[in-house]
Amino acid sequence: MRALTLAANGTLVRTERPDPQLTGPDDVRVRVVQTGICGTDRGVLTGKFPAETGVVMGHEAVGLVDQVGSASRLAPGDRVVINPTLYCSACPQCAAARFNHCVNKAGTEVGLDRDGSFADYIVLPERFVHRLPDGMTWDRAVVVEPLACVLNNLDAASIVPGERVTVLGAGPIGLVTAMAALHLGSGVVLVETDPFRRELATKILHDLPASTPLTVTDPDAAVSAPRARTVIDTVGSLLDTALRLVDTAGTVVIMGFDDRARVTVEPLDILRRGLRVVGAGDYNAPSFPRALALAKHLPLERIVTHRVPLDEHERALELIGVGGHGYRGAKVVIVSNDEQ
Ligand SMILES: [Zn+2]
Ligand SMILES: [Zn+2]
Repeated sequence: MRALTLAANGTLVRTERPDPQLTGPDDVRVRVVQTGICGTDRGVLTGKFPAETGVVMGHEAVGLVDQVGSASRLAPGDRVVINPTLYCSACPQCAAARFNHCVNKAGTEVGLDRDGSFADYIVLPERFVHRLPDGMTWDRAVVVEPLACVLNNLDAASIVPGERVTVLGAGPIGLVTAMAALHLGSGVVLVETDPFRRELATKILHDLPASTPLTVTDPDAAVSAPRARTVIDTVGSLLDTALRLVDTAGTVVIMGFDDRARVTVEPLDILRRGLRVVGAGDYNAPSFPRALALAKHLPLERIVTHRVPLDEHERALELIGVGGHGYRGAKVVIVSNDEQ
């Protein structure tokens, strides 16, 4: 099959791999339709996040079931989305239902240290493969996995309807966070330095059914606005900005992954103002079906701005600013097998 793998020099290269085979009775092989490029993928390709050389990258995948093991309840032809946050079910963390903190994650992180979905096929145990609701488009479904991440972080923030949420960063995760928070009844201030991304965000988030207000703004204007009850840093390096923007007794959620970020904070300020700083990390498995249900109500497909065939992956990377240029899209999707 065709695959995009991580080369030793940190670039993504087109390779040929043997078709993956079922190994257990509950394994499922999915013919990949398309996979979103994640901020984590961008992080790997810009040296901000570690991954295994030679791995097939990609984890935000949707596709059609192609083969099933003898114990599977899925059937060939089922339209599915993949939950790439694997867990073992056997360790103490899994036994306590904290699947996202499974101690046996090494070698199981899809697209990072286990082969992912920038390819024609992927094989996974059935419990990580979810059937799509009838009629859900591939472009909406491909944003379900980012929505699961967002939901996990909104849960961690304990947002209250009617209170204001400030979202730092208008990348795909920032856009999904804003969309979900508006749907859940929060007013949202979306803060972004890049004017292109601000304009795109305004276009994508316009006239949503939400009755709560949305403001898209730059960091300077955000500092002079009233402080928010909750600030979510989708960039991962803006903890100091987040602490400046959060109101007394408020919560800051660190959401973006940045292995290199270092920030100076004033512990006494956190103490005096009664702030909470939360890291929620990967979503727990039960969040995934909730995200799938919530996706029925959110026009997530608006976030997909580009669909690029797998063989033209270099163009896809240019669109997300890998290689020096700025961003030219929101969610860019690698199409393995076009089924639209
Ligand atoms: Zn992702
Ligand atoms: Zn485990």
